[in-house]
Amino acid sequence: MSEGAHRWFMTNIRDGYLVVEGCPECGARSSFFSTEHVPPVDEYHDGGHFWIYLGSSQATKFDLKCGDCGKTVDLCDMNGLMLSACRDPGCAVGELVRRQGPGSWVYVALCPDSTHAGGRCVSNEGIEALNEYFNQDLGAMDRRVVVVPCRQCDSIDRCRGTVIADVGLTDLYAETPEEDRRRAKGRTGGKE
Ligand SMILES: [Zn+2]
Ligand SMILES: [Zn+2]
Ligand SMILES: [Zn+2]
Ligand SMILES: [Zn+2]
Repeated sequence: MSEGAHRWFMTNIRDGYLVVEGCPECGARSSFFSTEHVPPVDEYHDGGHFWIYLGSSQATKFDLKCGDCGKTVDLCDMNGLMLSACRDPGCAVGELVRRQGPGSWVYVALCPDSTHAGGRCVSNEGIEALNEYFNQDLGAMDRRVVVVPCRQCDSIDRCRGTVIADVGLTDLYAETPEEDRRRAKGRTGGKE
């Protein structure tokens, strides 16, 4: 990282579930983050949509804060991170995955509006900070982490991956920016 770069650590960490819903009438997908002990299963009409429950994965939600200057990047528009396993030749994310060397990963930052009817996704500022965060301690190592917003997925239904859920993350990260071990564990998100 260049001089004057921020020194990010995770803050406001919440463990919960990424709940994926779909509208069978138009194929729309959306997600929300739930901190309930059991992920809620619901069916409801909302506007022109009829949302049904498609699945859930354990997930972790957080914001990033710079230990040097105190700047906080609000990641409220991110419901989880997915370690991408996409191999879809027509997908920009799959292409990126194929280009990574061994030990390097592509994370997809998942926003609530999976089909992006509203045109919004995780903010550029958020994506930039996430990239800095995950790479700030890799240094000269021949590894890299690339974080992309989920609007780069060709289709959120086909873009496969593992939603990152690490309950140990809380203790590890909380207020200790030096402690920077990242672990990617979790269950496969309902995106086969
Ligand atoms: Zn800073
Ligand atoms: Zn619909
Ligand atoms: Zn998105
Ligand atoms: Zn894909």
